[in-house]
Amino acid sequence: MIKHTTLIFAALFLTTIVLLAVAAPMLPLVDPVKMDILGRMAGPSLAHPLGQDEYGRDVLSRIAFGARASLGVALTGAILAALVGVTLGLVGAYFQGWAEQATMRPLDVILSFPPMLLALLAVTLMGPGVQTLSVILALLFAPTYARVTFGEVLTVRNQEYIEAAKALGHRPTRILARTILPNVAGPILVQFSLVVAAGIVLESGLSFLGLGVVPPTPSWGLMVRGARPFMEANPLGLIWPCVALVLTVFSINRICDAMRDLFDPKASAAVLPVSRLLAGTGIGRSRARPAAPAAFDGTLLDIRHLSTEISTPRGTIRAIDGVSLQVKPGEAVALVGESGSGKSMTGLSVMQLLPRKVGRIADGEVWYASRDGQRTDLAHVPANLFRRFRGREMAMVFQEPMASLNPVYTVGFQLIEALTAHGQMTKRDAWDGARRMLERVGIPDPERRLNEYPHQLSGGMRQRVAIAIALCGDPSLIIADEPTTALDVTIQAQILDLLEEIQAAAGIGLVFITHNLGVVAEIADRVVVMYCGQVIEEGPVDDIFHNPRHPYTRGLLASVPRPEDMAGQHKRLSSIPGTVPSPLALPPGCRFAPRCDHATSACVVAVPELEAVSANQNTRCIRWKEI
Ligand code: ADP
Ligand code: MG
Repeated sequence: MIKHTTLIFAALFLTTIVLLAVAAPMLPLVDPVKMDILGRMAGPSLAHPLGQDEYGRDVLSRIAFGARASLGVALTGAILAALVGVTLGLVGAYFQGWAEQATMRPLDVILSFPPMLLALLAVTLMGPGVQTLSVILALLFAPTYARVTFGEVLTVRNQEYIEAAKALGHRPTRILARTILPNVAGPILVQFSLVVAAGIVLESGLSFLGLGVVPPTPSWGLMVRGARPFMEANPLGLIWPCVALVLTVFSINRICDAMRDLFDPKASAAVLPVSRLLAGTGIGRSRARPAAPAAFDGTLLDIRHLSTEISTPRGTIRAIDGVSLQVKPGEAVALVGESGSGKSMTGLSVMQLLPRKVGRIADGEVWYASRDGQRTDLAHVPANLFRRFRGREMAMVFQEPMASLNPVYTVGFQLIEALTAHGQMTKRDAWDGARRMLERVGIPDPERRLNEYPHQLSGGMRQRVAIAIALCGDPSLIIADEPTTALDVTIQAQILDLLEEIQAAAGIGLVFITHNLGVVAEIADRVVVMYCGQVIEEGPVDDIFHNPRHPYTRGLLASVPRPEDMAGQHKRLSSIPGTVPSPLALPPGCRFAPRCDHATSACVVAVPELEAVSANQNTRCIRWKEI
């Protein structure tokens, strides 16, 4: 309800301001630059409904004409930036290779400049004025357009209708303009309104500093500048332009939000230029989200702020909430935490295997680097195109192998199916390939096993077959969700060895999900600890084991049986008191506080952020230094 009220208000307000700006010269307004020294700082009257400023000029009229300057600069700048940025983004993403270098690299250089510095530079070179402001805006925001466009085009460029257009022999310019552009227009439009809002703020900021609109032309920034020295004698003079500014920016942002929901429910503020712009002015938002990924840094899987929601009859839950984690090629990352902490949901989100209809990625990105070096945001790949990834680039191994094996087909049939799904093969080659896959996962007498059905195999053998099937597409990434949990202890160790061996030999990135920290020591390079849908600690395996910072990690470690304990008489393991809270009723502040021995009153209030405790280790505890 409130949502709609604010949206209606925003739309009405913005319409009024735009009409006022457009119609200002035609309205029966007083001349905005006409001074009236006798009426200096006079309060509202019939002739001057909003009062008069420090030179006796009519405030209402200056607000209206000021809107022309502010909106004019913002719109011109946003349009210029869009033209340049969208073109560069389209060309870079469509042609890639040298085109990407030529279009995107120079923009990276611009982005690396502090925006205020760039603005000052432009003003110095071109002199202050409305045109300069528009150019500055275009310069500052072209890169964000380019990046948004670039990312969007990457996700659509391989779609079938684009292949079809190519097959018809259309020229790239035509494909770009007619086929691709309309498909990426939504996010660009959202970007456009963000830039307009940022432009209004920039105009007033620079005009306030004396670097923007040249007096006596009215602008909101100049009005603030003029009224500031007299703010005690005439506070209204300052309040009017500020109110106009704040309400306009608020209205644009509100409409922007609504547009984003409409066009692209998944993409949240991927790029928020306003906060970046204000970084040097001290007005910025405190918690800006990082921009779209910078240059590729060798990461195979880069999950950023991923949130996944599940609709349940009792309400929507955030099964995972802002999870970020990275996997490099050949690296094994263990994802640990008690049952219900969101480990499986993280894996299933990456694989687009969320529960149908009820599960959806609500926010965040999943950048994946394919073999051909192309990066794709898997969170935004349409389901029908995901086949390119699942089973080929990446595979999943589940806790219960029976779940992924079809009981009515022989092991050989299923392996051959997996092998031939990715390319043509003769029957003979396929059979040989299947046999070699079984050898690779350490199954004795493979020739005989190929003719058997899954139920004829032991649990450990079945899991080996499931791993063999996962390997058929020659994946770069394997997500193994509790692959040893259903097996007995000795078999567990064997499967663990096998996974480790395969992962190391083939240089596969492995996400190893388990609730048991004990099993990760030998397989993992890094450990990511999850609790209630969030990452609460992460670091290299040695640091997590020898220098855990979060009380929850310590609790998990304390519940791992040590070899020396197992050899001696049975010692009772300590375990973490209490249970994982329901995702429908998460505690305020730190989600672990109700179960934590170290919790203070501050923990119940403060929402902890993931903090760096060393170069490689992060923890989400406000008291990590003390405990
Ligand atoms: P883990 O793998 O650590 O055991 P999950 O990812 O399975 O955790 O679960 C995370 C949260 O999502 C839990 O609160 C769980 O109750 C909820 N959840 C998982 N699957 C479903 C589902 N199909 N429907 C509703 N809630 C679910
Ligand atoms: Mg699970």
